[in-house]
Amino acid sequence: MPNDKGHGTINLLALAVSILILIRYTALGSVELVILAIAYMFGTFFLSPDMDINSTSYKRWGYLRIFWWPYKVFFRHRGYSHHIILGPFSRLANLALIVVPVMFFAGTYPPVEHMILFAGGVWGANTVHVVADGVQTRVLI
Ligand SMILES: [Zn+2]
Repeated sequence: MPNDKGHGTINLLALAVSILILIRYTALGSVELVILAIAYMFGTFFLSPDMDINSTSYKRWGYLRIFWWPYKVFFRHRGYSHHIILGPFSRLANLALIVVPVMFFAGTYPPVEHMILFAGGVWGANTVHVVADGVQTRVLI
């Protein structure tokens, strides 16, 4: 599997290509594209499938990583955390445990469409990460 830096580079290249394709072939507006891109980058650098180990993504949370410690302990490396659907869903659910109480006390929630776009961006970053892990593993064997 690529290291953290390799995953970051691969994911950013895939993001650039994806944005060009989305601009060309979809009717998404600039706000939607920005939300997708930000979510994708957040998924790459803060919600990576490698949150199941002591990775750079995990360490980027600083003191807040305590909220991710159960995730790291519960998920075996490259197990469900690297699943195409369950991986991002599990990390978004964990993120919701952190963010929803904050939004509740702040009395504000983003529109549902924006939350769906955010989930889509995180899913995209997860997918590219998992594919890169798989390709690298097959090439090395
Ligand atoms: Zn990985």
